[in-house]
Amino acid sequence: MQQAKQILKKYFGYDEFRPLQEDIISSVLYKNDCLVLMPTGGGKSITFQIPAVLNEGVAVVVSPLIALMKDQVENLKSVGINAAFLNSSLSIEQQISVENDVLAGDVKLLYVSPEKIVSDGFVNLLNKIKISLFAIDEAHCISHWGHDFRPEYTELKILKELYPDVPIIALTATADKITARDIIKQLKLENPRQFIASFDRPNLSLNVLPGQNRKKIILDFIKSRPNQSGIIYCLSRNSTEDMAKTLKKEGIKAEFYHAGMESKKRSKVQENFITDKTPIICATIAFGMGIDKPNVRWVIHYNMPKNIENYYQEIGRSGRDGLKTDTLMFYSIQDVMMYRKFINDAPNNKEIELAKLQRIQEYAEAQTCRRKILLSYFGEYLENDCGNCDVCKNPPKQFDGTIIAQKALSAIYRLKQEENLTTVIDVLRGSGKKEIYDKGYQNIKTFGVGKDISFVDWYQYMLQLLNQGFIEIAYDMKNRVQITEAGENVLFKGRKVNLVNVVEISKRKEQKEQEAKPLSKSKMLQNELFEILRELRRNIADSQGVPPYVIFSDATLLEMADKKPVNHNELSTISGIGDFKNNKYGSKFLGQILKFVREKSEVGEKIKGSTYILTYDLYKEGLNIDEISKQRNLSADTVLSHIAKLYSDDYDIDISDFVTKDELDKIKDAMEAKDYENSISPLYFYLKEQISYGKIRLGINYWLKNDKLK
Ligand code: ADP
Ligand code: ZN
Repeated sequence: MQQAKQILKKYFGYDEFRPLQEDIISSVLYKNDCLVLMPTGGGKSITFQIPAVLNEGVAVVVSPLIALMKDQVENLKSVGINAAFLNSSLSIEQQISVENDVLAGDVKLLYVSPEKIVSDGFVNLLNKIKISLFAIDEAHCISHWGHDFRPEYTELKILKELYPDVPIIALTATADKITARDIIKQLKLENPRQFIASFDRPNLSLNVLPGQNRKKIILDFIKSRPNQSGIIYCLSRNSTEDMAKTLKKEGIKAEFYHAGMESKKRSKVQENFITDKTPIICATIAFGMGIDKPNVRWVIHYNMPKNIENYYQEIGRSGRDGLKTDTLMFYSIQDVMMYRKFINDAPNNKEIELAKLQRIQEYAEAQTCRRKILLSYFGEYLENDCGNCDVCKNPPKQFDGTIIAQKALSAIYRLKQEENLTTVIDVLRGSGKKEIYDKGYQNIKTFGVGKDISFVDWYQYMLQLLNQGFIEIAYDMKNRVQITEAGENVLFKGRKVNLVNVVEISKRKEQKEQEAKPLSKSKMLQNELFEILRELRRNIADSQGVPPYVIFSDATLLEMADKKPVNHNELSTISGIGDFKNNKYGSKFLGQILKFVREKSEVGEKIKGSTYILTYDLYKEGLNIDEISKQRNLSADTVLSHIAKLYSDDYDIDISDFVTKDELDKIKDAMEAKDYENSISPLYFYLKEQISYGKIRLGINYWLKNDKLK
């Protein structure tokens, strides 16, 4: 495990394993079969990649998506691990060349499509090499129970028969227990250890808003997040096109994506998204599968998804890099009614689909922590409220809504429970619409008793009554609103009703808008540098024909922009920078950071660490200690201490410019004679106050660095 940790640092640039990663890796190293259930972005890949690097032989990785295979291979190569893939996208010549590399022992990880792995030719190849492990990615594809069954996957059961001694690690982001059992059975895993990570994604904020004014809210939302990448999911192809048009009209870069487009155009849109060229995509649910882009910063659902699985999967495409991400879902009863119609018109699975629809509707209408509801749906219990959903941030205040409920119920009653929600509200508000008058509803006793409440607010109250079970909607009878038994108790027996103030719900939206508070100075500098580094990353990525995140993740760039490392050593402490990337790209990024620090210092910005660099610049211009200290308005000792640090950090410093050989020797004697761990004054006095503190510090660094002590 010691070695595993070294590999984590050396190649991937991370200091610590995430929960479970270490256990999984050790289990694989002990050649156990195992099943890993971990949410998207949880960090599944390195659990087989690290054993693959450590073990002798080739790790064979089965992956269903050709595009992802290529990405993973590029990612591995970009950190200095040799990997290759074989699938139908390669020409025969390319395949032969990959096979030769594999036979020559040059490849640590070989990615293959499921149909490839069971072909005769491939089994022949496998028989000639040492296989370190099989990793089956997206393993739920083997099960009918999973949401993405692929017949080719069922063939994978022969792996265990052909290679009983090779450990299999099956991985999926599907939480479902039935699917998990099925994966084990189908792959014939032997006493597999199961690793089940929490499906919580705390970095995703959860927000639901009523489906009014969507476009305006979306525009505000996007404008307050310049340069961020996001997806807007819409139900219909038309609305994706419409939404993209709306955004473009406002000068926002966006494109649409749906299954009705020709495949070339679709791939282009997808590629532009992955490479950060188009930040925003308006798409149907056809979009997202096979996209590993880690820096999607937000997801909006223009319409409510049809079940919680889909919803969680779609919002899960954001924030894979672990950074803060916003999700926003609009909810309207029209969407629910439309789904009901779809489901009722479909030939089978009606009950299940309806029950699932019910659950997401409950989620959308919830006035309790939304994350608790989501996780409980996946069988997980969250102890405390999450604090990162709209309900937590703005908890509802209830009031006695009995009178409002009675008015509503009475109107429904007098309309003989034959009208839909809109008509009921129109009657309550005393609408002057022609249909209302045609039907003579202006003569009903409740006509206009709810004038003081707006249509939108009535709609909210109606939803709450629906949610609390006082009314129901007969979807099979033109959506008539009907009164339940509980509702009758309110209407006839004075039962009390609590409602949540609609103002509280709409405040959630305002709160979000207010969140854009002015940034602190250092935050502004960080953002500015981040954009510069992003630009550099984009240029490098373009010139190499890979997505920007293959170079560095957003998280890595942000940390760089925050800590502003100025040498390779400091750079290596940034999460996500291993040796290979440090060598390959480090200088370019350091160059930009140094340039930024210098420019900002010149205009008087204080940046941590910049003081050393300014001293160094003057030194390089040929100034001596006195001149530097004069120009920088610092004491000579301070300047010398800068020089000492720069010297330790491998800057190009000629030590003889500052101390003589004789002084160095005396300092060495003093270091051997005295303890200088906590303070250098013992050395100063030992040297009879003849050599300055600054020189002593420099001398110490010199001797430590050159390791010339006895
Ligand atoms: P999954 O396959 O489970 O969706 P990935 O393997 O793609 O997730 O990992 C998601 C992100 O988390 C990647 O950017 C990866 O580099 C990062 N990551 C993985 N393990 C760690 C770790 N121990 N520390 C920091 N980041 C990690
Ligand atoms: Zn919450």
